[in-house]
Amino acid sequence: MSTAIGTERKRLGVRVLTPEGAVFDDLAYMVIAPSVRGEVGILPRHTPFIAFLKMGETRLKLLDDTEVVYATSEGYLSVEDDRVLVLVEQAERADEIDVARAQAALQRADQALADAGDDDVARVAAESARRRAENRLNVAGKL
Ligand code: ATP
Repeated sequence: MSTAIGTERKRLGVRVLTPEGAVFDDLAYMVIAPSVRGEVGILPRHTPFIAFLKMGETRLKLLDDTEVVYATSEGYLSVEDDRVLVLVEQAERADEIDVARAQAALQRADQALADAGDDDVARVAAESARRRAENRLNVAGKL
């Protein structure tokens, strides 16, 4: 993606990629993402940068001054030459999150945790499912 040059405000070319494809591929003014060292805010002219992302909320400030918000899994963020890549296993737009599904997933995870007993593999899987569901509910504003 090319970046805008000229008299206008500088922009970022932003791609949010999952294994299923790009969920966002457009220009933006700012990217805010949950790095493992704390939230990072990326503006145009940022120096080359790479960060590990933890599960959380990734926000993109768009050219029309609206914001698009994603529930994102762990992954990476890279910045180079006004291009930002957010590479994550899962990303769901906040306004497209299926809240009933996430609530059901949370209940299933709690039940699986209660049933896991000494089964470490089952417990880790249930904890992971629980965190995904909690994050979706958080980002959807329903927790
Ligand atoms: P669930 O137990 O509800 O399936 P999960 O975390 O196991 O949750 P996956 O089955 O791994 O989810 O996800 C399959 C696809 O569905 C992914 O693209 C993921 O982003 C999406 N997805 C999962 N849960 C939701 C949700 N509550 N709302 C919108 N998209 C979701």
